[in-house]
Formats: sequence, structure tokens, C-alpha cells
Amino acid sequence: GNYTREEILQMAEEEDVEFIRLQFTDMFGTLKNIAITARELPRALDNRCIVDGSFIAGIAGESEPDMYLRPDLDTFAILPWRPQQGKVARLLCDIYCPDGTPHERSPRYILKKTAREAKKEGYTCLVDPECEFFLFHTDDNGVPTTVTHEKAGYLDVSPVDLGENARRDIVLNLEDMGIEVESSHHETAPAQHEVDFKYGEVRTIADRIMSFKMTVRTIAKRHGLHATFMPKPRAEVNGSGMHIHFFLFKDGRNVFVNPGNPQELSEEAYYFVGGLLAHSKEMALITNPIVNSYKRLVPGYEAPTELTWTKNNQNSLVRIPGSRGMETRIELRSPDAAANPYLVFAVCLAAGLDGIHKKIYPTKSSSRELSETDQKTMKIENLPGNLNEAIDYFEQSDWIKEVLGTEFCKEYAAAKKKEWLRYTREISAWEIEEYLYRI
Ligand code: GLN
Ligand code: MG
Ligand code: MG
Ligand code: MG
Repeated sequence: GNYTREEILQMAEEEDVEFIRLQFTDMFGTLKNIAITARELPRALDNRCIVDGSFIAGIAGESEPDMYLRPDLDTFAILPWRPQQGKVARLLCDIYCPDGTPHERSPRYILKKTAREAKKEGYTCLVDPECEFFLFHTDDNGVPTTVTHEKAGYLDVSPVDLGENARRDIVLNLEDMGIEVESSHHETAPAQHEVDFKYGEVRTIADRIMSFKMTVRTIAKRHGLHATFMPKPRAEVNGSGMHIHFFLFKDGRNVFVNPGNPQELSEEAYYFVGGLLAHSKEMALITNPIVNSYKRLVPGYEAPTELTWTKNNQNSLVRIPGSRGMETRIELRSPDAAANPYLVFAVCLAAGLDGIHKKIYPTKSSSRELSETDQKTMKIENLPGNLNEAIDYFEQSDWIKEVLGTEFCKEYAAAKKKEWLRYTREISAWEIEEYLYRI
């Protein structure tokens, strides 16, 4: 590990840390925290801090509601945007039951378990996410809108890019927290931005995505902007995705590489792609978890729809980018930033490995956008068209229950069904516009 208990106590003392936030992520990917004073830090490090689990999504429902927070010492970081005197630090925590066992429905636990099982076979999975988001204006009352005065597009620079200062500030704060950023740029849609991480182990990167979202929201606010990770806030422009690049290592070697093959790709690389494609419908409820997620997954906006793999087709679900050698990777393009990163990495790693175990060869590839006729003759399938379809695939899957746990899946699906029902009963602005005058 990075730090011992004593080192953390010492750092807190030397850095004049006054508050520590004990943070964890619930079932739906929401970051939660409880703040303690520095005086209570030794107690927290002894794993004695308690939260009431009865109000936490995915945890509620136990006969004994008190849950213990076990800080992961490696995640100690000072929040750089807080005051420099009387600093605020945070620790990411695992959730433990009163009997001292890890809570099995905690997303961080689910990911650790999946990564541990992969390790038993010698595999280490590294990931590199591309996080997209919008920086919108707020109205006169400070309420977030989907309005922007910006007209910038892909890779544009200031002064056209109104978010440049905010983006720069975001990256500096992330680096201060030890989150390595590879690059950042203006994305295709007005007011849309992207931050690209350096790769790391699945658990580390999931932790970093959670810290990243908190940082982006906070810093945007300081610049008078509202940051949103909503997958499709505006119908007429691109939505925001969270593409993920996967690297698989065994004995210090990139498993996806085979210099002897024509494409320099190993059989395992193709099987990993095959596993992702084969399980993509069952995992859609995890990778694309909200009603709005499915409004992004439509043709014409650089978002995937087809269950195909590609080198360059924007509609394909999986892409094998051109980089080779140790950099050889497989990119999954469906996930969005509404997803819980711990669960996304768990299901994707399990899907890829299942492809390797079962030697699932991905037969459907495309190098261009396919017409409807092409799709029919090639028997191309699509991602679920809406949340309701995704719920069906999820519920019918025994495989997903093995990865996430039966109890977890039951609770998750039940909550998603409620969300869908609430949505279908709502009268939308579109309906009023379309029908009120005419009918
Ligand atoms: N914003 C696009 C999406 O929804 C991705 C654009 C890109 O990075 N090529 O996935
Ligand atoms: Mg992008
Ligand atoms: Mg990167
Ligand atoms: Mg990409």
C-alpha cells in the first residue's frame, strides 16, 4: 500500500487537516460521505465509524442497519479546492457488516471480488476511461440549465472554448489529488468537454472516476458553470459517453498482443471482444443505467448502436484502436458516466474473460456505417432500445447474477423498474407540443 496508519495520522497533523470525509459509493454510483473531525481520525482508522445503512441504496434492508466504514488507506487525499488552513481530506471506504464481513452488495466489494478472481487465473486488468461531460450555464437563480453561449467544437481553443479555464482548473485539481490525467480537450458538441485518464488497475480507476466527478462538479461551480454527466442532455447534439479502454496483462505481458499474427492481435484479444459483444445486452442496465442513457445510443451522434466490432465505425460497440505492443487495447464505447464505474468494470472484465474461457469469436465486424438492409442480411443485433428492454435482458441473465450476486440483481432491477414506471407515467413536453393543439 501507499500509506500506513501512522503515516496518515502524521500527514493529517503536518498538513493541518481539520476534517476528513469518509466516502463510499452506493448501488447507483452516487458518492456519499460522512465528515469527521481530525480528532476522530484514529477511530476511523480503527474501522469503528458507523453509518445507518437503512437509507443507503443497495445496503438497506439488513436486519442490523449499522454498517462499518473501513477506510482504504491508499485513498487518502487532501481536497485541493478546500481552504489551505484547516484542510479537508478524504478517504474512500469499504462497507463492512457488524459481524466483520464485507458487505456483499457494496459495488467496491463486487469489483474487488471480480478482480481477485481474474488474478487467480493470472490476469490483471487495466482500464483507461475517456470521460465526457457538459459545462452549462445556470439561470439568474443559480438553477442549472442546458443553455450555453458557446459554439466551440472538437479540439477548439479559447476564446471560442468558454470552458477552457474551468477545464484547466479541473485538471490541475485532479493532478493535485494524485489523479493522473493524460489529456483533455473540447468535445464535438458546444460546451462539451473530455478528460482522458492514464490507465490503471480497475479498482484504482473506479475510485478515480468517483473523485473525478466530484472534482468536475465542484470546480465548474466555482467558475459559475454547471457540470453534468447526463448522457444526453440535448437531443440535437452528441451525448456524453464514458468509453473504456481495456488492457489485459499476464506475467507482465499484454495478453492481447501476438506479433506473429497478421493484425498482431492474439486469439485472446478477439475472444475478449467476443465476450463483450455476447454479454452487452445483459450488462446494458449497468453500463447504461438510466432512462436518458438510451437517448444517447442512437445513430448519427458518434454513439454505438450495433453489436459489431470495428477499427473505425462510429456505430460499433467495440473498437480495436491502432496502437500495438504494450499499448494494445480494446475499447468499449457503450458506457456512459451515469453508470457506477465499479459495476461497469466488474461486468466488463467478467464478460471479456468469459469470452476467453468459452473462446467466443466475434463474427460481426464492420468498417463503415451499415444500412438497414446490410444490418438485416448480416443479422446484426442492436443494444437495447430503452431502459425497459435493458431491464428484461438483465433479469433474464443467469450470468449477470453470478457476477453481481443474486440479491444485488434483485434489488437493482426492482429500483430500475420503478424508475421506468415513473418515466412512462410522466407527461412530457414533447407530448404537449405534439398533441395539445392538434388533438
Ligand atoms: N460523445 C460520443 C459518445 O456519445 C463519443 C465521441 C468520441 O469521443 N468519439 O459516445
Ligand atoms: Mg470523446
Ligand atoms: Mg487515456
Ligand atoms: Mg473513444
